[in-house]
Amino acid sequence: MIKTATFIKSAADKSGWIDDGVDEICFVGRSNVGKSTFINAITNQNKLAKTSSAPGKTRLLNFFNINNGQFRIVDAPGYGYAKVNLAQKMAFGEMMDDYLTNRNNLVGVCMLVDMRHDPTADDLQMYNFLKEVDLKVLMIGTKLDKLKKNDIQKNEKSIKKILNFDENDTFLKVSNTNKTNINLVYNVLVELLDG
Ligand code: GDP
Repeated sequence: MIKTATFIKSAADKSGWIDDGVDEICFVGRSNVGKSTFINAITNQNKLAKTSSAPGKTRLLNFFNINNGQFRIVDAPGYGYAKVNLAQKMAFGEMMDDYLTNRNNLVGVCMLVDMRHDPTADDLQMYNFLKEVDLKVLMIGTKLDKLKKNDIQKNEKSIKKILNFDENDTFLKVSNTNKTNINLVYNVLVELLDG
């Protein structure tokens, strides 16, 4: 399990990346998908990952030390926020492209999608990119508590179909609110680290 999680630093670009051999798992997702709440839930903390008061404005990667050097969580800015301008969009794309393509420490990506809805064009673009650069993905479907029982399988199927989901990747449905399946996350992260 995750026993300790501490903030290390933020980085705007490559010059801020940490130069050592520790494995990293990057967390990506659309703004408001529940990424901060999820990171706080799996690390058992209230305020480790902060929800930005101005979503889309923060374009930094945030590095967290997990279990005193076992691995790092790298929290990426949320994408798809409607009010960002083209320059901000480009800067985000460039930073993520560089990190996801060139970061040797990166062993896998935890991508979050909202279980209530079909993936957005931005979600599809992100997942396609991750598959193009051959990254393993742990897909987290959030807000499970908001779904009617009958919709759970149906929505998962639809999300996977739209994303052309790679069956070698793992898909886990969670509720941050009820903590459903949060206890399963650590073992899947370890599979990414070991694989
Ligand atoms: P981020 O922008 O991806 O970091 O999203 P946040 O973690 O700030 O969450 C956005 C909103 O969704 C907040 O109001 C959260 O309380 C809510 N939220 C996050 N996870 C869940 C969940 O599993 N279920 C429900 N019902 N709401 C959630």
